[in-house]
Amino acid sequence: METIALVIIGSGPAAYTAAIYASRANLKPVLFEGFFSGPAGGQLMTTTDVENYPGFPEGIGGPQLVESFRKQALKFGTVVFPEDVESVDLSKHPYVVKSKNRTYVAHGIIVATGAMANRLEIPGAGDGEFWQKGVTACAVCDGAMPIFRNKPLYVIGGGDSAVEEATFLTKFGSKVYIVHRRDQLRASKIMQQRALTHPKIEMMWDSVVLKVSGDDVVRSVTIKNVKTGAEEVREAGGLFFAVGHTPNTAFLKGQVELLENGYIKVVPGTTKTNVDLVYAAGDVQDHVYRQAVTAAGTGCMAAIELERELSARGLVL
Ligand SMILES: Cc1cc2nc3c(=O)[nH]c(=O)nc-3n(C[C@H](O)[C@H](O)[C@H](O)COP(=O)(O)OP(=O)(O)OC[C@H]3O[C@@H](n4cnc5c(N)ncnc54)[C@H](O)[C@@H]3O)c2cc1C
Repeated sequence: METIALVIIGSGPAAYTAAIYASRANLKPVLFEGFFSGPAGGQLMTTTDVENYPGFPEGIGGPQLVESFRKQALKFGTVVFPEDVESVDLSKHPYVVKSKNRTYVAHGIIVATGAMANRLEIPGAGDGEFWQKGVTACAVCDGAMPIFRNKPLYVIGGGDSAVEEATFLTKFGSKVYIVHRRDQLRASKIMQQRALTHPKIEMMWDSVVLKVSGDDVVRSVTIKNVKTGAEEVREAGGLFFAVGHTPNTAFLKGQVELLENGYIKVVPGTTKTNVDLVYAAGDVQDHVYRQAVTAAGTGCMAAIELERELSARGLVL
């Protein structure tokens, strides 16, 4: 079987940026953009306006931004398959990458499969309901939007990220409620202190959101106290899920070293994994920033780091 220089796995800003750099560097990359593994095009396909990606002062639609990345990668010769990578064999070099329909042998691999923001199945919160009309999973991305200004906002979660998201949202909402199904936070001591003492944050202990309602945008949430059974409809301008992320690493089946939280471990300041010539870019290796611009940045790093290694070893075909 023919051996190629590079397979890129994934399809968000990290994968397409890696593809743009790699194809311009003549690596002729093959990119698997996914099908069942998440929205092909990545998490930005699930959002409306992106207002913080540099270069678009008026903002740009998430899917539109992704389509531009993709077009740019295709323009320089990236070959794209709308398929999931089902398995990789990293036990010997060159590496084997398999989807349902095809197999490639590659000298280098860039994994850019992202991390899915977990969502809860709450009536009214789904796609085609109030998702992205007041319900979201990223406060840093969406919190500054006008629909959330001076409105009561609700964050579901009990860990550090719930407190971080709630604290960020205090800049915009009239009040921020953290809805937590237990009677204490899982967050670290310092984060708990921050939440419990913040004048604009209020805890709703032992509580769950039962329903999201509204007209064109979210107007209210129904909250149930799981101890007393009492239900209450409360005015709401937004609902934010802060219930963790799941990095898309299952298909790697322990072949690449992962952190305890499931993200791929990279050598700090690089995109190198513990496997020679296998690099990881974007959210799949970043549980801290998780932004489109940082994903694109690490996609660029991965392509440059890999191209230098392949060239040095005479493996650019
Ligand atoms: C609701 C929401 C709104 C957001 N808004 C913003 C914003 O305004 N600004 C901002 O900067 N960031 C925003 N983000 C965050 C941003 O979307 C992510 O940081 C960014 O998309 C991460 O890019 P990525 O390239 O790492 O991967 P992702 O965008 O996560 O894409 C990875 C893709 O890889 C594919 N894939 C997964 N497994 C496989 C496999 N086995 N084989 C082949 N393909 C596979 C899937 O199609 C998956 O969707 C938002 C996120 C969400 C959830």
